[in-house]
Amino acid sequence: MSSINKTLGIIGAGQLGMMIVEAAKKRGMNTIVLDPNPNSPAFRIADKYINKSFSDINAVTELCKNSDIVTYEFENVDDVIINAVCEKYNIPQGAMPLYYSKNRLREKKLANSCKIPTASFQSVRKKEDLINGIKKFGYPCILKTTEDGYDGKGQLFIHNEEDLPKAYEFIQINCMLMECILEKVVSFDFEVSSISFRSLDSSFTMLPIVRNIHKNGILNLTIAPAILSKQLENKIIEASRSFMEMNNFYGIMTIEFFVQGNDIFFNEMAPRPHNSGHYSIEACNYSQYDLLIMSLLGEKLPQDITLKPCVMKNILGYNLDFVDKIKKMNLKDTYIHMYGKKEVMPNRKMGHITFIGYDLEKYKNTIENI
Ligand code: AMP
Repeated sequence: MSSINKTLGIIGAGQLGMMIVEAAKKRGMNTIVLDPNPNSPAFRIADKYINKSFSDINAVTELCKNSDIVTYEFENVDDVIINAVCEKYNIPQGAMPLYYSKNRLREKKLANSCKIPTASFQSVRKKEDLINGIKKFGYPCILKTTEDGYDGKGQLFIHNEEDLPKAYEFIQINCMLMECILEKVVSFDFEVSSISFRSLDSSFTMLPIVRNIHKNGILNLTIAPAILSKQLENKIIEASRSFMEMNNFYGIMTIEFFVQGNDIFFNEMAPRPHNSGHYSIEACNYSQYDLLIMSLLGEKLPQDITLKPCVMKNILGYNLDFVDKIKKMNLKDTYIHMYGKKEVMPNRKMGHITFIGYDLEKYKNTIENI
């Protein structure tokens, strides 16, 4: 399908939506976005926007009616609404990836059904489930809500018996609303993410696997490439490919894995562009946004994805002064992206910076310590 003059609709107009719009514009496509936040970053650059709720079926229908292809920028879009409009409109990724990704139990069961290992887990609805789970897994373990948790929210680390009262309270509050999940703690060496693409023509490709470093539960740095043994790299590529193919998923799929020795553990999936893929805008010949659009258009996906080694640093509300310091340093091959969000909150993602040519050692001495 030629993309010129086609309209891409995006549910969600945050920074990810904004970067999808930028990639679509480069191809001469029109864009329309939907978001309840009147100050959404993508509103400023999309051809049209709808400032309404994601759960407003009329608003989602209006977006679809005005689009040739529709995608989403985050996983908490209501899969029931997407399912309702899928039959009539062109939403190549469909509702199923959302149905799984919004629930930690479902996504882990799905991974296991594709023979991809996860941390041991069990569902928790009441105190007895927790006690049984701890008996099975031992300490430490993590109790999480199955839905609505992100960036480390909705989680309780249970180190030992002393944490049990807090865990009971967690269950009492959260299990009124939903099931919880108890996970065995994986003492991983590091975390990586894989970002895969499957086009409607069934071709498959991946961005280089990257390593993620979190601070206070939020992604702080992405190191590209992750520098893995061939064996580990192949395991991750095979798991990512079979996850998309076995489940008949199209478009984009990010999977976060824990790596422990030569073992990998699926932690989370996201059927959308990912924070850990921002680096691809400048460091790769195709960005995650370009590849998503190519997949949705049914184009043959490139196998020759190049990478300039780099580090991506997230800029949160509390470290905005980091940006000024970097600007003053006039570093070459350094790309500052600010999302233009009006309201600053300490842990809100306000922008990111990609440092091309920085290796792990250099980042330790420079980026991290500025
Ligand atoms: P999540 O929201 O599931 O991605 O968890 C946020 C962070 O908590 C992860 O990036 C890990 O650093 C840590 N974490 C979550 N689950 C586990 C686990 N089962 N074992 C060890 N660390 C975990």
